[in-house]
Amino acid sequence: MNSTLNQLLLAIDSTGSPTHWLTWEEAVTCEVLGKIAYGFGDFEFTFRGGINRATGLISEISLKSILVLNGRSLNPFRNIASIPLTNAALFKRDQICVYCGKGPRGLTRDHIVPLSRGGKDSWLNCCACCSRCNGIKGSRLLEELGWELLYVPYVPTHHEGLVLQNRRILSDQMEILKAVMPKHSRILDRSTLQELK
Ligand SMILES: [Zn+2]
Repeated sequence: MNSTLNQLLLAIDSTGSPTHWLTWEEAVTCEVLGKIAYGFGDFEFTFRGGINRATGLISEISLKSILVLNGRSLNPFRNIASIPLTNAALFKRDQICVYCGKGPRGLTRDHIVPLSRGGKDSWLNCCACCSRCNGIKGSRLLEELGWELLYVPYVPTHHEGLVLQNRRILSDQMEILKAVMPKHSRILDRSTLQELK
Protein backbone atom coordinates (compact mmCIF):
# COMPACT_ATOMS: atom_id res chain seq x y z
CA MET A 1 0.00 0.00 0.00
CA ASN A 2 2.85 2.31 0.86
CA SER A 3 4.40 1.93 -2.57
CA THR A 4 1.07 2.77 -4.18
CA LEU A 5 0.84 5.97 -2.19
CA ASN A 6 4.31 7.01 -3.32
CA GLN A 7 3.67 6.26 -6.95
CA LEU A 8 3.25 9.30 -9.18
CA LEU A 9 0.75 9.19 -12.02
CA LEU A 10 1.63 10.81 -15.35
CA ALA A 11 -0.76 13.49 -16.57
CA ILE A 12 -0.91 14.12 -20.29
CA ASP A 13 -3.05 16.64 -22.12
CA SER A 14 -5.53 15.92 -24.88
CA THR A 15 -2.80 16.40 -27.52
CA GLY A 16 -0.83 13.51 -25.97
CA SER A 17 1.87 15.72 -24.49
CA PRO A 18 3.03 14.77 -20.96
CA THR A 19 2.45 17.77 -18.71
CA HIS A 20 3.17 16.89 -15.08
CA TRP A 21 3.20 14.27 -12.33
CA LEU A 22 0.25 13.83 -10.02
CA THR A 23 0.43 12.54 -6.48
CA TRP A 24 -2.39 10.14 -5.65
CA GLU A 25 -4.19 12.89 -3.71
CA GLU A 26 -4.02 15.21 -6.71
CA ALA A 27 -5.12 12.45 -9.07
CA VAL A 28 -8.11 11.53 -6.90
CA THR A 29 -9.07 15.22 -6.70
CA CYS A 30 -8.90 15.48 -10.51
CA GLU A 31 -11.07 12.41 -10.81
CA VAL A 32 -13.67 13.69 -8.34
CA LEU A 33 -13.75 17.07 -10.15
CA GLY A 34 -14.23 15.35 -13.51
CA LYS A 35 -10.93 16.62 -14.91
CA ILE A 36 -9.77 13.20 -16.11
CA ALA A 37 -11.00 12.28 -19.60
CA TYR A 38 -9.67 8.72 -19.34
CA GLY A 39 -6.73 6.72 -18.14
CA PHE A 40 -4.60 4.03 -19.72
CA GLY A 41 -1.42 2.13 -19.10
CA ASP A 42 -0.30 -1.22 -17.74
CA PHE A 43 -0.76 -0.37 -14.07
CA GLU A 44 -3.84 0.40 -12.02
CA PHE A 45 -4.00 1.75 -8.50
CA THR A 46 -6.96 1.59 -6.17
CA PHE A 47 -7.37 4.23 -3.51
CA ARG A 48 -9.82 3.62 -0.69
CA GLY A 49 -11.63 6.43 1.05
CA GLY A 50 -14.26 6.62 3.79
CA ILE A 51 -17.58 4.82 4.06
CA ASN A 52 -20.24 6.15 1.74
CA ARG A 53 -23.24 7.11 3.92
CA ALA A 54 -25.79 6.33 1.24
CA THR A 55 -24.53 2.88 0.33
CA GLY A 56 -22.62 1.84 3.44
CA LEU A 57 -19.76 0.77 1.17
CA ILE A 58 -16.16 1.90 1.35
CA SER A 59 -15.60 4.33 -1.49
CA GLU A 60 -12.93 3.32 -3.95
CA ILE A 61 -11.29 5.06 -6.88
CA SER A 62 -9.18 3.14 -9.37
CA LEU A 63 -6.78 5.06 -11.56
CA LYS A 64 -4.43 4.03 -14.35
CA SER A 65 -0.77 4.98 -14.44
CA ILE A 66 -1.29 7.49 -17.28
CA LEU A 67 -4.16 9.97 -17.09
CA VAL A 68 -5.46 12.10 -19.93
CA LEU A 69 -6.75 15.37 -18.52
CA ASN A 70 -9.60 17.20 -20.19
CA GLY A 71 -8.67 20.07 -22.46
CA ARG A 72 -5.32 21.43 -23.46
CA SER A 73 -2.90 22.23 -20.73
CA LEU A 74 -2.90 25.99 -20.23
CA ASN A 75 0.85 26.22 -20.45
CA PRO A 76 2.67 22.90 -20.42
CA PHE A 77 6.04 24.65 -20.42
CA ARG A 78 5.39 26.78 -17.39
CA ASN A 79 7.78 24.75 -15.28
CA ILE A 80 10.90 25.13 -17.43
CA ALA A 81 12.56 27.61 -15.13
CA SER A 82 11.68 25.63 -12.05
CA ILE A 83 13.36 22.29 -12.80
CA PRO A 84 15.50 22.11 -9.68
CA LEU A 85 19.24 21.93 -10.25
CA THR A 86 20.04 19.06 -7.91
CA ASN A 87 23.17 16.93 -8.19
CA ALA A 88 21.03 13.89 -9.01
CA ALA A 89 19.34 15.75 -11.90
CA LEU A 90 22.63 17.25 -13.12
CA PHE A 91 24.39 13.86 -13.17
CA LYS A 92 21.46 12.33 -15.04
CA ARG A 93 21.57 15.11 -17.62
CA ASP A 94 25.32 14.77 -18.20
CA GLN A 95 26.15 11.12 -17.33
CA ILE A 96 29.94 11.66 -17.67
CA CYS A 97 32.66 14.07 -16.60
CA VAL A 98 32.57 17.09 -18.90
CA TYR A 99 36.38 17.19 -19.12
CA CYS A 100 37.64 13.58 -19.26
CA GLY A 101 34.49 11.55 -20.03
CA LYS A 102 34.59 9.34 -16.94
CA GLY A 103 31.37 8.35 -15.28
CA PRO A 104 28.62 7.94 -14.41
CA ARG A 105 29.94 7.00 -10.96
CA GLY A 106 31.82 9.39 -8.70
CA LEU A 107 30.59 12.62 -10.25
CA THR A 108 30.63 16.04 -8.61
CA ARG A 109 29.14 19.38 -9.61
CA ASP A 110 31.53 21.69 -11.44
CA HIS A 111 30.89 25.37 -12.04
CA ILE A 112 32.49 26.02 -15.44
CA VAL A 113 33.06 29.62 -14.43
CA PRO A 114 33.78 29.16 -10.71
CA LEU A 115 31.48 30.84 -8.22
CA SER A 116 34.50 32.71 -6.87
CA ARG A 117 35.04 34.19 -10.35
CA GLY A 118 31.46 35.35 -10.75
CA GLY A 119 29.95 32.16 -12.23
CA LYS A 120 26.35 31.26 -11.49
CA ASP A 121 24.90 28.13 -9.95
CA SER A 122 22.74 27.48 -13.03
CA TRP A 123 22.02 24.72 -15.57
CA LEU A 124 24.14 26.59 -18.13
CA ASN A 125 27.18 27.03 -15.88
CA CYS A 126 27.14 23.61 -14.21
CA CYS A 127 28.34 20.26 -15.48
CA ALA A 128 29.03 16.82 -14.08
CA CYS A 129 32.72 16.44 -13.34
CA CYS A 130 34.78 13.65 -11.78
CA SER A 131 36.40 14.50 -8.46
CA ARG A 132 39.89 14.29 -9.99
CA CYS A 133 39.19 16.88 -12.70
CA ASN A 134 37.31 19.03 -10.21
CA GLY A 135 40.30 18.95 -7.87
CA ILE A 136 42.74 19.91 -10.64
CA LYS A 137 40.49 22.66 -11.98
CA GLY A 138 39.91 24.32 -8.62
CA SER A 139 38.88 27.94 -9.11
CA ARG A 140 40.53 28.36 -12.48
CA LEU A 141 38.90 29.21 -15.81
CA LEU A 142 39.06 26.83 -18.77
CA GLU A 143 41.24 29.21 -20.79
CA GLU A 144 43.75 29.29 -17.94
CA LEU A 145 44.02 25.49 -18.11
CA GLY A 146 43.65 25.03 -21.86
CA TRP A 147 40.71 22.69 -21.19
CA GLU A 148 37.64 22.21 -23.36
CA LEU A 149 34.13 20.94 -22.69
CA LEU A 150 33.25 17.49 -24.08
CA TYR A 151 29.63 18.62 -24.33
CA VAL A 152 27.71 21.85 -23.94
CA PRO A 153 25.51 22.29 -20.88
CA TYR A 154 21.87 23.13 -21.50
CA VAL A 155 18.64 23.77 -19.63
CA PRO A 156 16.59 20.53 -19.66
CA THR A 157 13.35 20.70 -21.59
CA HIS A 158 10.04 20.39 -19.82
CA HIS A 159 9.81 16.72 -20.83
CA GLU A 160 13.34 15.95 -19.65
CA GLY A 161 12.43 17.69 -16.43
CA LEU A 162 9.61 15.20 -15.92
CA VAL A 163 12.15 12.37 -16.04
CA LEU A 164 14.52 14.21 -13.71
CA GLN A 165 11.76 14.86 -11.17
CA ASN A 166 10.62 11.28 -10.64
CA ARG A 167 12.91 8.45 -9.60
CA ARG A 168 10.22 5.78 -9.80
CA ILE A 169 8.92 6.01 -13.34
CA LEU A 170 6.86 3.02 -14.50
CA SER A 171 7.73 1.35 -17.79
CA ASP A 172 4.54 2.49 -19.53
CA GLN A 173 5.04 6.07 -18.34
CA MET A 174 8.64 5.93 -19.60
CA GLU A 175 7.45 4.89 -23.06
CA ILE A 176 5.34 8.05 -23.26
CA LEU A 177 8.23 10.22 -22.10
CA LYS A 178 10.77 8.58 -24.40
CA ALA A 179 8.65 9.50 -27.41
CA VAL A 180 8.94 13.22 -26.66
CA MET A 181 12.59 13.41 -25.55
CA PRO A 182 14.86 15.66 -27.60
CA LYS A 183 17.25 13.73 -29.84
CA HIS A 184 20.37 15.06 -28.11
CA SER A 185 19.17 14.02 -24.65
CA ARG A 186 21.44 11.69 -22.69
CA ILE A 187 18.93 11.49 -19.87
CA LEU A 188 17.49 8.18 -21.03
CA ASP A 189 20.70 6.35 -21.79
CA ARG A 190 21.48 2.95 -20.37
CA SER A 191 22.87 3.96 -16.99
CA THR A 192 19.85 6.13 -16.25
CA LEU A 193 17.41 3.41 -17.21
CA GLN A 194 19.21 0.91 -15.00
CA GLU A 195 19.01 3.28 -12.10
CA LEU A 196 15.32 3.76 -12.72
CA LYS A 197 14.56 0.06 -12.66
ZN1 LIG B 1 37.14 14.03 -15.23
